Amino acid sequence: MYLKRIIAHGFKSFADNTVIELNKSIAGVVGPNGSGKSNIVDAIRWVLGEQSVKSLRGDDKMTDVIFSGSKSRKALNTASVTLILDNTDHYLPMDFDEIAIKRRLYRDGTNEFFINNEKVRLKDVSDLLVDSGIAKESFNIIGQGKIEEILSNKATDRRVIFEEASGVLKYKKRKEEALRKLERTHDNMNRVNDIIKELEVQIEPLKEQKHKALEYLSLTDELKDLEVALITSDITNINKTYQENKEKIEILNNEINDIKVNNNDIEVKIEQYKTNINKLDDEIKNKQHELLEKTSEVEKINSQKEIILERKKYELDNNKLHNNLIELKEQELKLQNEINLINLEVTNKQNELNKLTEEKNILVNEINKIKEDKNKQSEMLTEKVRLSESLKTKINTLRESIDANDTLPFAVKNVLNNPKLTGIHNALGSIIEVNEEYSKAISVSLSASANNIIVDNEKCAKDAINYLKANNIGRVTFLPLNIIKGKYVDIETLNIISKQKGFIDVASKLVRYNKIYEDIIGNNLGNVLVVDNIDNANTIHKLINYRYRIVTLDGEVLNVGGSITGGNLKIRNIITDKYELDNMILDLKKNDSNITTLENNINEIDYKLKALEDRLYLKDNDIIVINDFILNKNKNLSTLNDNLKNTNYAINGTDSMIKNTISDEENKIINEYYKALNTKEELQNNINILLNQKQSIANELADFEYTVKKENSLYNEKSEELKKLEIDVNRSDVKLDNLLNILSETYSMTYEYALSNYKLEIDENIARTKVNSLKRKIKELGVVNTLAPEEYDRVSERYEFLIKQQEDLTNAENTLLEIIDEMDKIMEREFAKTFEIINENFKKTVKELFKGGQASLKLTDPDNILETGIEIVACPPGKTLRSISLLSGGEKTFTAISLLFAILKSRPVPFCVLDEVEAALDEVNVESFGEYVKTLNNLTQFIIITHKKKTMEYADILYGITMQESGVSKLVSVKLEDIK
Ligand code: ATP
Repeated sequence: MYLKRIIAHGFKSFADNTVIELNKSIAGVVGPNGSGKSNIVDAIRWVLGEQSVKSLRGDDKMTDVIFSGSKSRKALNTASVTLILDNTDHYLPMDFDEIAIKRRLYRDGTNEFFINNEKVRLKDVSDLLVDSGIAKESFNIIGQGKIEEILSNKATDRRVIFEEASGVLKYKKRKEEALRKLERTHDNMNRVNDIIKELEVQIEPLKEQKHKALEYLSLTDELKDLEVALITSDITNINKTYQENKEKIEILNNEINDIKVNNNDIEVKIEQYKTNINKLDDEIKNKQHELLEKTSEVEKINSQKEIILERKKYELDNNKLHNNLIELKEQELKLQNEINLINLEVTNKQNELNKLTEEKNILVNEINKIKEDKNKQSEMLTEKVRLSESLKTKINTLRESIDANDTLPFAVKNVLNNPKLTGIHNALGSIIEVNEEYSKAISVSLSASANNIIVDNEKCAKDAINYLKANNIGRVTFLPLNIIKGKYVDIETLNIISKQKGFIDVASKLVRYNKIYEDIIGNNLGNVLVVDNIDNANTIHKLINYRYRIVTLDGEVLNVGGSITGGNLKIRNIITDKYELDNMILDLKKNDSNITTLENNINEIDYKLKALEDRLYLKDNDIIVINDFILNKNKNLSTLNDNLKNTNYAINGTDSMIKNTISDEENKIINEYYKALNTKEELQNNINILLNQKQSIANELADFEYTVKKENSLYNEKSEELKKLEIDVNRSDVKLDNLLNILSETYSMTYEYALSNYKLEIDENIARTKVNSLKRKIKELGVVNTLAPEEYDRVSERYEFLIKQQEDLTNAENTLLEIIDEMDKIMEREFAKTFEIINENFKKTVKELFKGGQASLKLTDPDNILETGIEIVACPPGKTLRSISLLSGGEKTFTAISLLFAILKSRPVPFCVLDEVEAALDEVNVESFGEYVKTLNNLTQFIIITHKKKTMEYADILYGITMQESGVSKLVSVKLEDIK
């Protein structure tokens, strides 16, 4: 490889595009001071990656290398230098015969590198050139005054030349890179360790918090399931009692009202009766007064009569006969009075009898009506009792059928009933419950799948299938819990259809089941939509592009894709059986309650009937007594009439015997007396009747008062009961409010949702104890960070990751250390080997150049090859070996040049630029120098900047640099003769 061309443009004094063509031979560059020769050296160094502004003789910025303008030329904005290398020998590891390395710098500081016009990084250039002998660290570009510097440098600074020469720079670079990586790895490791430590501080408490939170979440989950189910069951029960009590309150209110109205009526009657009694009392009093008067009148008349009759006795002859006549007359009148009185009594009794008969008829009518009502109610009761019996029979039959899984196919039943098979749960249809309104839709949705059997896992399914096969029983589909996953309707579709008319819900939401079957239910019903009717179902199906199955409440099925199944279908399966059973149980309850009502009604009727019949019996008795009375009186009457007749005969007989013997006076007084007596007796009779009437009214009044008393106590009883019920209803109301509040505020649920999703599966009291114990446990947990599990998982994931990273970093560190170790070994080996060769060559070169003398190189720390400095010992001929600093300037230069040549001999570089290195040499030494260069030229291309003509003689080609236009370097070709 050799440097074929240098192209500079805008670099320092090379404002114009300057091309320096070179070949393998020795090129000399000549020109006056300040013409720009050294700028060529700078240009070469710059392209090869020099980063030090000072080394490039700039002020403080790299942009100092851009042409800064002159009197006649404006400053430029870019500087660029290209080295064209001949690589036909593929000295550089690139598949090109020619390699152009270019560097460009803009005034704004932008720095660019190119290899064969391809933009690259500085590192790429360095990598390409490392250990090539022309890298910036190489000893092939020796600037002005730099050659002596090699001797005045510290022993340790000098080793870089040897390193480059021994080709270990690339290993050194690799080692440095490895060290940098190692440092980065350490940094990372420290950072990772710090974070790990920090995480370790967090992770333990977080772990505890996570456990606590998980326990809390599991407890609250359990509590939720249990409490919601319990609350729902409580709400259902309390609401049932609440409704029943409200009904009772209504009935009681009506009853109380009836009692009130009835009592009012009775009280009005009582008042009337009391008024009547008072009236009767007045009347009786008056009559009694009258009677008193009449009695004294009768007595008075009687006295008069006695006097008159006594007097008449003495006036008449036939006294005895006359007395008889008077007696007969008095008897007649007495009899007439008696007859009159009895007639009066009979009439009264007859009236009383009529009234009684009328009342009896009313009673009989009333009794008949009530009996009719009783008959009707009894008939109804018989019918209801018969219905109850029939329902009980049906319920038992259906229950037995459900228990025996009658609707399930033979094979399914067989598997379910085989105790030897394990992990068998139940048929799908048997684990769900559904409200009647949705049962058809759900039955249709499941269809034959209702008979699929849920099992723990595929092994259980396999065992069951083997059993079916071995016994040739038939086929069954199994649903392993560990495999089956739920299907769902996507949220977008749900959002669309939830607002659609007629959409009810996803089928899986309309059934109740134990949560462990969630996936199974989801798998079978999670992607089925339930819509109220076929019209709405059609609209929705179209809207969702026929992507999901829809079933209607009537059992029509709109399949995925668009086909529709419908018509009459009598479905009977475990689900329909279950709701039929529920319905029948409800009907039975209703019927039983009707029976109780009817029985109560009939009892009440019986009670009323008994009271009425008692009253009728009393009436009948009264009628009999009166009839007897009338009969007796009539008998009396006929006897009396006979007596009267006889008396009349006797009077007429006696009268004819003694004509007109009763005087008018006697007649008058006797008639007057009996008339008065009759009036008196009539009065007495009247008083008796009135007293009787009063007694009868008083009796009735007592009856009424008794009834009112009884009704009042009933009223009080019912009012008391009503009050209790109202308190109960209020309490239930508050309880219901409370429970509904807990549902909505604690669990964000409606009662309906809770009812269809949560079912109390254990005894209510056990559930209540469990809820309390769960609440106590939750309380005992204290403050819980519910985000802890997530936080712990996140932190521990990061912790695990960092631990893995720590491991990776340790591995990387080990690998890097191995690499460093390996590099060190190679470098030690190569360095020592090259040092020996250079040392040998140095000794020889010194001898050759100085024409005698002695020199050698020494390691300052031979035990530490990797860091040892290099000491140069030189002794020109005829002089004793002394310190380098004591050598003359020329001797120093020559020693340094010897070292340069020794190195070039040991490890030839492609090209070497020497900027006035021989300036301090005398003519003889310049010649030796020239000779030596010549001998090395077959291995290395030399570009020599010189002012020495002697040196120029050794050049095969000479370039002149001038600065004709002030401030801009120009390249001119020069011939040696021109200089001579
Ligand atoms: P000598 O023989 O004395 O060593 P030389 O030929 O090596 O001289 P250089 O040191 O290469 O000369 O060139 C120095 C010249 O380059 C100076 O004239 C200086 O002004 C010019 N120069 C350096 N940097 C720039 C720059 N950025 N823009 C313009 N000219 C520059």
